[in-house]
Amino acid sequence: MTEPSDLILRGIGELVTNDPRRVEAGLLGIVNHAAIAIRSGRVDWAGPLEDLPDEYFDLPDLDCAGRAVLPGFVDSHTHLVFAGERGEEFTRRLAGESYETILAAGGGIQATVRATRRAVREAAAVGLVESARLRAERMLTHGTTTVEIKSGYGLDVPTELRMLEAASAIGKLVPIDTVGTVLGAHVVPPEFAGDRESYIRLVEEEMLPLLAPLARYCDVFCDRGAFTVPEARHILEAGKHFGLKPRVHAEQLVATGAALLAAEVGAVSADHLDHIDEEGAAALAAAGTVATLLPAASFSMRTPQAPARLLWDAGVTVALATDCNPGTSYVESMQFVIAVAALETGLSPAEAVWAATRGGALALEEPDKGWIGAGTAADLVILDAPSSVHIPYRPGANLVWKVIKDGAVVVERPSPLQGKG
Ligand SMILES: [Zn+2]
Repeated sequence: MTEPSDLILRGIGELVTNDPRRVEAGLLGIVNHAAIAIRSGRVDWAGPLEDLPDEYFDLPDLDCAGRAVLPGFVDSHTHLVFAGERGEEFTRRLAGESYETILAAGGGIQATVRATRRAVREAAAVGLVESARLRAERMLTHGTTTVEIKSGYGLDVPTELRMLEAASAIGKLVPIDTVGTVLGAHVVPPEFAGDRESYIRLVEEEMLPLLAPLARYCDVFCDRGAFTVPEARHILEAGKHFGLKPRVHAEQLVATGAALLAAEVGAVSADHLDHIDEEGAAALAAAGTVATLLPAASFSMRTPQAPARLLWDAGVTVALATDCNPGTSYVESMQFVIAVAALETGLSPAEAVWAATRGGALALEEPDKGWIGAGTAADLVILDAPSSVHIPYRPGANLVWKVIKDGAVVVERPSPLQGKG
């Protein structure tokens, strides 16, 4: 997207490397008074400024003036492409109406499915791309450099296809990497209400083969009111047949055993997990399945948070993501997610920052993202703050000063420090 660049960042007050080889520097592998050398859009060297090799001295120079630098956020669970909005439903929920009542009256996810189908049918797919592009730009402005995007508001073949086409178009319009996921098995659409088997067959036999070239993963919403564990198993195995690795919406609304299923099928990630128990956590740890937590969704729904401490202490790799969607988490900022995670789920600020960067990269199988060292992607966030703890410490503010994607500065925000003197 952007031209590969050469650049040197000096004057970094706190560098979050997430480099596990810096064991003495804690979970975040922090280096103080640091520098980063970027060549051809990738990190060539990172470490203490005083150790910067002479060979980099002729590169263009950016003085961070004591600010903190961390890897770009990897948002590994979003429903970024959709039409319409559900502000009125939000008001009704806050006034005490249940989601089930709203759904029964044709609201909830069905409202977004109708709006998204209409946008595609009326050839307003450009609008579908345009609205998602604006959301992706806001994400980038808040420091996200890689975003996963699911289908799942079409629930028919043409709309699901257009959703994933829109998702990949975003990655060409905005300097942000996108990863597509097929979520044809989000819910059973109303026209298949009496015939679930036929809808599952449509997903497996028509959607998966057609959408596979646009996606890396197959996801299933395995929960009350959506798909059962046996149905999810069948769909995820079908996805594997088309080269799509599994990931699962699991244990969000009620405990179903979906986390055990995720471990059984070798899912890359099990997501939400608000109702996971010790047995489920042990299974995810043993299978190497990432637990992707979506604390902004539980916050927005005013439901209890996932047991993040239990998962982390069981040895599960934990990721954080926005779950950006128009119904239950219209959240675009990973900084906000870090704040909710640190304030409400029992993760420490350092664990929350790690989970939003390295954890997210592992949830999307991106080995050279989410950490900073020789050979990694030069996807970086420079905060207008001296340390990463300011992210959860100052919730609601966008602390980004600059965002660097593939070595190029793609976001520049004014600093209160500028113009004074
Ligand atoms: Zn989701």
